[in-house]
Amino acid sequence: MSEKTTDKSELKVSKIKNGTVIDHIAAGTALLVLEMLGITGREGTKVTLSLNVQSKKKTKKDIVKVENRILDKKEINQISLISPRATINEIKNFTVVNKFKVELPEEVHGFPKCINPKCITNAREPPKHSYFVKSSDPLKIRCKYCNTNMNKQDIVKMLLKYQGLTK
Ligand SMILES: [Zn+2]
Repeated sequence: MSEKTTDKSELKVSKIKNGTVIDHIAAGTALLVLEMLGITGREGTKVTLSLNVQSKKKTKKDIVKVENRILDKKEINQISLISPRATINEIKNFTVVNKFKVELPEEVHGFPKCINPKCITNAREPPKHSYFVKSSDPLKIRCKYCNTNMNKQDIVKMLLKYQGLTK
């Protein structure tokens, strides 16, 4: 048995009929992506996870295949925050009908929670989070209301916290 996975064989092994394949996820972050999408496995959604797969460039990546689900813009933006090089493939009838790279927006709205506990956005109901994306590598966003900077670690932490509160 060969461990070798070319893109071709990979697709063959786990082709999905309809849904979304999120490729080139930063290695080790696929579980975070699932968590952000609110996929716990309890909804009955069929999900295939590949962690730390060797990519063509000899680097490692994660892949997530979600059946019967097309991601909305907000979900794609969230993915771009933790995995700016991810690629989204929309699948219909076993065929890729739409393929694009996630794009880190210039501004992020609605998530995550601000890491500053005294920030006014954390006191409002509903919360109104808003950030400028200051840099993508390393990732840095700045709260529009209290000017607190958040790095990737902060963002991941607060994204998960936020999901926990809303889902
Ligand atoms: Zn703030």
